[in-house]
Amino acid sequence: MTTTDRPIALHHLPRRRFAVLLPLGGIALLAACSKPPEPAATPAPAPTPTPAPAPAAEMPAATAPAQASAGTAGLPMVDPADPSAKALAYTADASQVVAASQPKYQPGQACGNCALYAGQPGDAAGPCPLYPGRQVSAQAWCNAYAKKA
Ligand code: SF4
Repeated sequence: MTTTDRPIALHHLPRRRFAVLLPLGGIALLAACSKPPEPAATPAPAPTPTPAPAPAAEMPAATAPAQASAGTAGLPMVDPADPSAKALAYTADASQVVAASQPKYQPGQACGNCALYAGQPGDAAGPCPLYPGRQVSAQAWCNAYAKKA
C-alpha cells in the first residue's frame, strides 16, 4: 500500500492545490493580458450587437405609428347590451330613444354633437371617454349627453 492508496484529507487539499495553481493562474492572467491583438479580432462579433440595436430602433418607429393610426379606426363599437352601456342607457340610434323612459333626451341630441364625442366631424363613429377602447356611433345617444359648445 502506498500513500496514494490512502484517502487524502480534504482539508489539506485546497491549500496544496492553491499553492500550485496560484503561479499558474498568474501566468494565465499575464498571458491573457498580453493578448490585446486577439481581442481586436473579437470585434468581428461586434456586428452581432449592431443588428440588436436595429430591431430596437425599428420597434418604436414601426409600432407606435401603426398603433396610433389603426387604434381609433380599429376600435370595436360599443355594444348597447354591455353593462356599461346599459348603465347610461346608450342607444346606438338616438332616434330610437324612448323619451318617456329617458326624460333627459331631446330630439336632435346625438353623440356627433355631444361635447364628449372625440370623433371628427363627418365621421360615422368616434371615441368617447366614457367607453374607453371602443367607439360610439355619431348617431348614438346616452344619458351623459352634454351639448357641444
Ligand atoms: Fe355619446 Fe356623449 Fe354619451 Fe359619449 S357621452 S356616448 S358621446 S352621448
